[in-house]
Amino acid sequence: MKYILEHPVTAVIGTEKYKCTVEWRHGKFIVDEPEAKGGNDLGPDPYTLLLSSLGTCTIATLRMYIDRKGWDVPQISVAVNMYQETKDEKTVTVIDRDVSFSSPVTDEQRERLIQIAKACPVSKILEGEIQIRTFAYSDGEDKDKHTYTNGEVTVAWKPELCKHAARCATQLSTVFNPAVKPWVNMDGATSQEIVDQVNKCPTGALSIEKK
Ligand code: SF4
Repeated sequence: MKYILEHPVTAVIGTEKYKCTVEWRHGKFIVDEPEAKGGNDLGPDPYTLLLSSLGTCTIATLRMYIDRKGWDVPQISVAVNMYQETKDEKTVTVIDRDVSFSSPVTDEQRERLIQIAKACPVSKILEGEIQIRTFAYSDGEDKDKHTYTNGEVTVAWKPELCKHAARCATQLSTVFNPAVKPWVNMDGATSQEIVDQVNKCPTGALSIEKK
């Protein structure tokens, strides 16, 4: 399986309540809680980000579809909100998404656009089955290491840091296969593919040895 993002979204919080710095492909932004929840409202809160993700994915997907069809709709906007209720002792989250078009659309177009909105990638994630796997790491777990080389690059593996998240094994199984020994086969992919995969190890268990 391959991750959707080449690099994970990372976020860090210090002691300042509740300012988080999120790093993405091209920079950083601040996420915070509103003052009513003890934050300073320095940036969007996590619920806002979740809804923004759905809203922006929706309108970008609609824009692609409308452009492909050649329809004259200069602007598309969306308002997204949600509430939660308890049903049969389960918390049910209801998200309402209101899409508006800046020019008239026929009933037939509207129905089609609703279907397209429902099929946007983030809608599919939220309405599909989601598993959140959580791993925890701490600094200072570095002890011995094993090295593997193909003559061009050398991969170091520190077992103490490996949390067996299996990202390497699922994403580049021709190289990383815990079922065989040695579990790292440096002939299983190009040096660049190996380096790229090593850089995705979430714990630092895998690294590239400097020459
Ligand atoms: S990705 Fe890193 S932590 Fe996960 S199994 Fe591979 S070496 Fe271990």
